[in-house]
This record gives sequence, C-alpha cells and structure tokens, in this order.
Amino acid sequence: MTTAEIKAWATEYIMNTYGDRQLALVKGEGAYVWSADGKKYLDFLSGIAVNGLGHCHPKVVSAIQNQAEKLLHVSNLYYIEPQAQLAKLLVENGDLDQCFFCNSGAEANEAAIKIARKFVKDSGRPKANEIITMNQSFHGRTMATISATAQPKYHKGFEPMLPGFVYVPYDDLDAVESAINENTCAILVEPIQSEGGVNVPSSGYLSGLRDLCDRNELVLIFDEVQTSPARLGTFFGYQSWGITPDVITMAKSLGGGAPIGAMMATRSVAESFVPGTHAATFGGNPLVTAAATATLETILEEDICQNATEMGDYMVNKFSTLKGRHPLTDIRGRGLLRGLVFSVDAKPLAAKCADNGLITICTNDHVLRFLPPLNIGKQQIDEAYQLLEQSLADVGL
Ligand code: PLP
Repeated sequence: MTTAEIKAWATEYIMNTYGDRQLALVKGEGAYVWSADGKKYLDFLSGIAVNGLGHCHPKVVSAIQNQAEKLLHVSNLYYIEPQAQLAKLLVENGDLDQCFFCNSGAEANEAAIKIARKFVKDSGRPKANEIITMNQSFHGRTMATISATAQPKYHKGFEPMLPGFVYVPYDDLDAVESAINENTCAILVEPIQSEGGVNVPSSGYLSGLRDLCDRNELVLIFDEVQTSPARLGTFFGYQSWGITPDVITMAKSLGGGAPIGAMMATRSVAESFVPGTHAATFGGNPLVTAAATATLETILEEDICQNATEMGDYMVNKFSTLKGRHPLTDIRGRGLLRGLVFSVDAKPLAAKCADNGLITICTNDHVLRFLPPLNIGKQQIDEAYQLLEQSLADVGL
C-alpha cells in the first residue's frame, strides 16, 4: 500500500487519538526506517525510546522466531520459562528483588501504585494512600496514571481524577517535604522527566527523596519506563545516581520492540502482592519475555551501557557546536536521552527534520528530543547533525 492508501484507511477506521501523521513506516533495520513510499529515514526517536537495539535487531528477531515456533502464549496460571529467565536477569543486574510483568508503561505504573498502597496498609498504616507526584510528570494514560500525571492537559474531559495524588513542583525537595502528612504512602518520580521536556533534577534531589522516604516510611517509586534499561548509561537508570528506590517501573526498550512492561520491588514490598492481588493475562507472556531476555542479554554482551554514555557525550559535543549560530540555548539529559532546547517554537523544525530524513520529536514546544537506538554509532550521529543543520537552514533558524 502507498502512504496515501494507508492514511485513507487509518483515517476512516481508526479513532483519531494521534492526529494527522506525516509518515507511514513499513520497514526498519538498525537505526533506519523506510516509509511506504520507499524513502529512508534516520530514526532518532526509536518509537519513543522503544527500539533500544535499533529496528529488528537480529538477536531479538531470532528469539521471537524461535519462541513463536515453540509456544506463543500460556496463562500465568503456569510457570513460563522465558519469564523466569527474564526476571533472573533483571534481578541479578540491579538491587531489587522481584518482578511483576505486564504489557506497557502505564500498566507498570498501575502495578506500582497498587503495591505501594498495599504495602503501606500491610505495614500498619491503613489510611495512608496518598502518592506525591511531580508537575510536568508523565506516567501513562489509564485513569490512575493520568491522575498521577501532574499535567492538566491530560486530565481535561476525563474528570474526576482518581483521589489520592498530590502534586508538587519537580526538583523541589522542600515542596515534597511540606506535602508529606500522615496520609502519604509513596513518592512517584521520573529520575529524568522525558515527556515533560527532558528535565534533569539537581544533584541531591533524588537522594533527598530517598532520605525523605526513609524518614517517613514512604515507598520511593521511580518511573523508569523511558530511562531503563541502559538509556542513561547504566543498566537501570537509578544506578547512575547511586541510590536504590523501593519500586521501579519499566517498559519501552525492555522488549527491544516487543510490548512488555515490568514493575520491580524490594522483597519486603514485593511480599504485599500475594495471590489474587494483581494479574495481567498477557503479562510476561512467552513471546515478549523471550524478546526481552534477548534484548537484555545483548545489552550486557555488547556493553551497550558504555556505548550510551560515550555516544551521549559525543552527541552533546557535536550538537553544542550549533549554539551561537542557531537559537539553541541548552542540551539537557543524560546518556542517550537528550533534549535540544530552543528559544523558539521547535515544532516546525521537527517536521522539517522528518522531511529531510531525520525522525525526532518536539516536546513542550521548545525541546527537540533525541532518543536514538542505544547501539548508535558516531557515523549516524554525524549524519543526524548534518540533517539537523540542513533543517535549521530550511526553516530559517
Ligand atoms: N511513564 C513514562 C515516563 C513514559 O514516558 C510513558 C510513555 O511515554 C509512560 C509511563 C506510559 O507508557 P505506555 O505508553 O507504555 O503506557
């Protein structure tokens, strides 16, 4: 089908939650994708941080093929071999003790919200159910996760929000401390806010949250849906700050392109999820956990964390040379989660980049967000730089 034909059917038959889209993408290999019309694009968005090993990584594809021939799905009423293997890998490479598998970031956050409330009740504080979250956060699109997301634009039309969420400014420890009361059970935070504009907290903020949780017996939840695995240059994002939350959530690049989410917790918190308390039919099914296991094995074998650090630094150095000549004021982020901050609206620039063959996204009007595959190389970063420079010229910036 041509792009126009796909667009016509999609417009007719699919609800319009994503608006008008520039491209129909039909094929991918490594850092590149091809449109239905045969044009090649350098993908610096990676399906919004999903294709961590690039498109159709051979080890992920072969794991999916092998598993598809063996067993596609069985219920979680039975033990599942690749699910057990994936959980072992996740636990052995971090500081948390047990996993719950689901299908998306929002579902992982739902699981985190539920386990935090249950744990605090089990610990003898039955009335404590409030969760403190941060302005500009993004935690998903289910009712509980939009309620946790402190951005009114995601609430509009869906009110009332679920009770039990208290919003405070990001990167403000005093605000968190003032919001804590006898009803508080947890703090939920993205270690770097990606959708909110690639906002990096001051040093001491995340460890300060850890300290507040310890002093007030609160559950510290890191939403690492976008930052783990490997995107920040460490296997789990929290490891780059040297602190351990009680609960983390993941999704996005965990499956190397396959849809999977995970919530991990310390053993004491995990014990609150007893039989019957939570479940997901497809959660951790054989196909996606085989894909995720292959993804994580590849990340470890090919030292992808180191690559994310080195290429992140290379990208910042390279793109910083645009400052002064263009309205680029700052480059924020860590590893391969980067935001180029412009003093002007960057939406036309993002659209021009796509016209010129570079896929990226504009966040919060002024920030061009780069989430390239974690195994990206210098050559592709140089290519992205050239395409961006060309696009800046084309839009007159
Ligand atoms: N949490 C964060 C930090 C995210 O960036 C996202 C999605 O962008 C989500 C949660 C929701 O994930 P999903 O779209 O898989 O439900």
